[in-house]
Amino acid sequence: MAHTWDLPAPEAGPILRPNAAGLSPGELGSLLVNLGEPAWRGKQLFSGLLRQRWTRWEQFTTLSKALRARLEAQVDLAWPAIVLSETSADGSTKHVFRLSDERQIEGVFMPYEDRVTLCLSSQVGCAMGCTFCATGQMGIIRNLSAAEIVGQVVTMLNHHAHSFDRPVNLVFMGMGEPLHNLDHLMAAFEILTDAEGLAIPPRRITVSTAGLVNGIDRLGIYPRRPRLALSLNGTTDEHRSRIMPVNRVWNLEALADSLGRFPLQSGERITLEYVLLKGVTDSLEDGRRLAAYARRFPSKVNLIPFNPHEGSGFEPPEEARISALCRLLVEAGIPVSVRRSRGQDVAGACGQLVREGRFLKPQKPEA
Ligand code: SAH
Ligand code: SF4
Repeated sequence: MAHTWDLPAPEAGPILRPNAAGLSPGELGSLLVNLGEPAWRGKQLFSGLLRQRWTRWEQFTTLSKALRARLEAQVDLAWPAIVLSETSADGSTKHVFRLSDERQIEGVFMPYEDRVTLCLSSQVGCAMGCTFCATGQMGIIRNLSAAEIVGQVVTMLNHHAHSFDRPVNLVFMGMGEPLHNLDHLMAAFEILTDAEGLAIPPRRITVSTAGLVNGIDRLGIYPRRPRLALSLNGTTDEHRSRIMPVNRVWNLEALADSLGRFPLQSGERITLEYVLLKGVTDSLEDGRRLAAYARRFPSKVNLIPFNPHEGSGFEPPEEARISALCRLLVEAGIPVSVRRSRGQDVAGACGQLVREGRFLKPQKPEA
């Protein structure tokens, strides 16, 4: 007779195979120990994946053929596949990736003279429902795994044959709300910053959030963590709640409190992203309130002229208004930059204003 405490007979479900790109050197080491190999081979495998950026088993010539075959039976080596790439006049390339379940995400490769910046997705879709954002309108489909986050980086670096002649910056400003996927995000962060692999310094990684206070507080607990950017996009609760539903849960005051207690290193600033929507967020009063908000904690402001998409109902601001807001912030002593629609900062009038701004506190050079 079966008792209530008897476990049901296990069903033959799918065998879950980990993806090698989402495993730390320690986890790879344990895997190899289980195969009767020494643990240090885990580091060897990890550096093949993240330093050599090998993507197929036959490239792992540091491991014997027999061991490769046994590994292949245990772990996947599946990378996001690039299905579409579009390069814009300014040199940045948008890639569309297909994941193993056929879902698609986007990443952007932006080359600069002194660095390359990769814009990454953290989720398929997004649950936050910001009214001006195309991703927000699609709703949330699922979180990305650590392997899929790491995979975007390796795939883009390989596609562009990046040789680390210039340092790599990573920004989580693609699809999704990274703080809704903090566990996988931080697992990927550990892999991407590991000295045996890409060794990207934590200060070169920025996570952008719509303002999940519980997520910001959790992020602040990690001793090693990425930099923080906050999408402000509104300067009164009434206005912000209208375009960012998250503001009804954590309003501007709760957000400022959480940013104020976020542990920063010396010289570190929180980036306030501010999308300029014509007639909605781009008034001079908004600029003044934005300056006052930015002064409450060490911050810099990134103005983002709205990037129009079909059916959004919003329009980009006038050029003259962008300059006026930029000037207003500079004169208020706030470091400010303008991000153009393709994701590249422009060293136009605004950048010059920053350099000439008399009231600017000396700023550490951008990492
Ligand atoms: N979910 C995170 C990160 C992804 S969105 C966040 O919201 O911060 C990255 C940035 O793009 C955010 O600052 C967001 O406000 C901005 N954004 C979204 N849609 C935009 C659009 N159509 N034009 C310009 N910026 C947009
Ligand atoms: Fe878009 Fe970011 Fe808002 Fe999500 S949180 S809907 S990605 S702006």
